[in-house]
Amino acid sequence: MTDPTPITAAGTWRDHATCAQPAHATRQDLWYPAQLDTEVLRAARKVCMVCPVSAECLDDALAYEHGRGRDYRFGIRAGTTPGQRHHLAKQQRQQLQAAAA
Ligand code: SF4
Repeated sequence: MTDPTPITAAGTWRDHATCAQPAHATRQDLWYPAQLDTEVLRAARKVCMVCPVSAECLDDALAYEHGRGRDYRFGIRAGTTPGQRHHLAKQQRQQLQAAAA
């Protein structure tokens, strides 16, 4: 399994990621927790809510995960859980299919 590009990687929108700023850069356990629980999710979402590149982050996550199995869907991205992104991607596919019909 190949890991996605880390949120903290340099370049483009990632430079503006709130989670990559010094105050949060040492808290990657919030976005890639060993175990996802309500407290961790709440803390990560609190940061994602004020992130100026959350739309780009979500698009990047959905693009990376598209067509891949659940093993490639992990971590909190733009305040969403892997399961939420799975449902979001499914909704997007259904909307595209409906528009094309
Ligand atoms: S939306 Fe959240 S996970 Fe995505 S770059 Fe911003 S702070 Fe990081």
